[in-house]
Amino acid sequence: MGGVTERREQCHICPHECVFTEKHPLGRCRVRGLDNPGYGMCVGLAVDPIEKKPLINFHRGATVLSTGPNGCNLTCLNCQNWHISQQKSTMVQYMSPAELANLAMEKSDGLAFTYTEPTIWYEYIMDTAPLVKEQNGIVIMVSNGYVNKNPLQDLISVTDAWNIDLKAWSNDFYRKICGGDLQTVKNSIEMVAASHCHLEVTWLLIPGHNDDPHQITDAAKWIKAATGENTTLHVSRYFPRYRMSIPATPISMLNEAVALFRKHLRNVYPGNI
Ligand code: SF4
Repeated sequence: MGGVTERREQCHICPHECVFTEKHPLGRCRVRGLDNPGYGMCVGLAVDPIEKKPLINFHRGATVLSTGPNGCNLTCLNCQNWHISQQKSTMVQYMSPAELANLAMEKSDGLAFTYTEPTIWYEYIMDTAPLVKEQNGIVIMVSNGYVNKNPLQDLISVTDAWNIDLKAWSNDFYRKICGGDLQTVKNSIEMVAASHCHLEVTWLLIPGHNDDPHQITDAAKWIKAATGENTTLHVSRYFPRYRMSIPATPISMLNEAVALFRKHLRNVYPGNI
């Protein structure tokens, strides 16, 4: 007698390359899994100024409907949105692609996939973004950049602007603090920079973790070489959240980091102050 074959699927969206089975139906991000349970399950729906994403040099003054999936493929110890990225939220509602696109165009100038990690919503974004574009809306991604090249290329093709975190210039930091790797994020930044999409980068400055002047200088030189000296960089102030309790970034430290980045880049802005 032949046994029943267990369902087994592999996800290729990010380098975790999770395998879903009936016993373990969810991936590490808790959004993707057998039968794509996170599809259209929106957490947080709010109209925000585009500058809050942050995007400073793209459609200034525009507003965007913002939402995201209830999970993330990284596990940053300092996550600012851990209550929706690292745990199940009760504030989740299903929106079909048409419902979300129409709401975005009724209330604002477009749609931002943000709050947690949007690239893990690959199919939902591929279905929804074109409906916003059909109505001449803008589509924005705010991402950790931890995504494989093929899905990223597809997502680039349906979107207009990206803000990608460069969390540190250290693979050790990515491994220990975030559960990811630096090279994947560098690849993503390069790919978006080479595309039609507008790119801005965010560096969240955490005292003792990514404030080393040599690290900052190396990162600044790389951003300039890989994306151009005009790329907008947000150097944002960290606040203690989730599993990181070290005190908030002093303003003087933020100003020093901004000055260092400005030696190599022309559009550097302090953020979260
Ligand atoms: S996107 Fe989610 S399910 Fe897919 S490989 Fe990454 S963590 Fe795993």
